[in-house]
Amino acid sequence: MAVTYEQLLNWLRLVDEGLIEQRGYLNELDAAIGDGDHGTNLARGASAASGKVDSDHPEYIDDLFKLVGMTLVSSVGGASGPLYGTFFLRFAASAGHRQELSAAQLADALQAALGGVVERGKPEPGDKTMYDSLEPAVRAFRSDLDGNGVAVAAHRAFDAACAGRDSTADLVARKGRASYLGERSLGHIDPGAASAALLFGALAEALA
Ligand code: ADP
Ligand code: MG
Repeated sequence: MAVTYEQLLNWLRLVDEGLIEQRGYLNELDAAIGDGDHGTNLARGASAASGKVDSDHPEYIDDLFKLVGMTLVSSVGGASGPLYGTFFLRFAASAGHRQELSAAQLADALQAALGGVVERGKPEPGDKTMYDSLEPAVRAFRSDLDGNGVAVAAHRAFDAACAGRDSTADLVARKGRASYLGERSLGHIDPGAASAALLFGALAEALA
C-alpha cells in the first residue's frame, strides 16, 4: 500500500490551509508565553512554500519536500522556521528520488524528519516544545503500522500528537523564548506543539 506523491502534496496543501485557519489561535498561544508570532510565522512560510511548489512543479517527493524545507528556512524568522525547515529537508533526504513511498519508507522519513528537529533544537522530552507532540506522533505512526494501513497509523499519530500537545500545558518551558518565563509558562499549551499536532492532523486527512 503505497503513499503517492499526490497524497503527500495534498498533505502540504492541508497544512497550508490549516495554518491560515489557525493562525490566530497559534498567535494567541504564542502571545501567552512568547512573542505572539508563531501563527503568522508559519502561515507566511506555508504560503511562500506553496507559491514555490506551484511555480516550480517538482515531480519527485524529495524535490517537493526539499523545496518546502528550504523555503521555510529562508522565509520564516523565529525558531520554528529552521526547525520545521529541517524537518522537511530531512524528510526529503530520507524519502529519496521517488514518486511514491511504502508505508515503511514514510515511517522512516518521519523518523528522519524528527531527528532533524532534535539535531537542530536539541529538545528533550518535557522541555515544552514541538518535540513533545512530534515525538509521540512519529512513534505512534511507526508502531501502529503493524497490522494496520497508513490511514489508521496516521490517525493514531494525530491522536498521539494531540495528547502530546495537551501535555505541554503541565510543563515548565526549558527551550525557546517561553523558557524565559520559567514557572509562569505553566498552564499554557506550547504553540509549536499545537502546530505539530496540526501537521499530523493534515497527514491523517491526506491519507484517510
Ligand atoms: P520564536 O520563539 O522565535 O518567536 P516561533 O514563535 O515561531 O519562534 O516558534 C516557537 C516554538 O518553537 C515554540 O513554541 C517551540 O515549540 C519551538 N521551539 C523553540 N525552541 C525550540 C528548540 N530548541 N527545540 C525545539 N523546539 C523549539
Ligand atoms: Mg514566537
